[in-house]
Amino acid sequence: MLKKILDSSSCAECRLCCVFDRYDIWETPVFTENIRDRILELKPEAEFIAKDGGYIFKADELSEEGLFSCPALTENGCILGDGKPFDCRIWPYRIMNVNGRRAITIASICSELYNRPLSQLVGFLENGLADEIFSYADNHPEIVKPYYEGYPVLLFEKKFL
Ligand code: SF4
Repeated sequence: MLKKILDSSSCAECRLCCVFDRYDIWETPVFTENIRDRILELKPEAEFIAKDGGYIFKADELSEEGLFSCPALTENGCILGDGKPFDCRIWPYRIMNVNGRRAITIASICSELYNRPLSQLVGFLENGLADEIFSYADNHPEIVKPYYEGYPVLLFEKKFL
């Protein structure tokens, strides 16, 4: 979904959004049942926890660096290819509940996008992506995260929840 502004080779080299530390559990992607089943076909050892109508993965033991990875991450990148969860397809954009109103924020850890001009980041949302995100969240409210301090709000939804 971000192919127009985010070069896939940059993502392939980075993968920061697929690796987490123990403070990032809230940031792990929410999987639909179909995507969870697809991962289980490819990685039967993966474990999932049902959460708010979706699934999150059960974290492995932390590595020596204090990190754990998404079970869909391999040395060759994400095994889901173009079938990634919605959360991953819009990352580093995030949808959050800010005082009862849905808003789109951005994760600063993605330096590739975070350092772009604000007009470009917001412009891309206004060009249809925001509507797509809000519409998906209407059917999958589990992807809406509580507001997390430090995430700049780029755009509020016009209607209130
Ligand atoms: S599903 Fe794929 S893109 Fe999303 S966090 Fe896991 S490995 Fe990364």
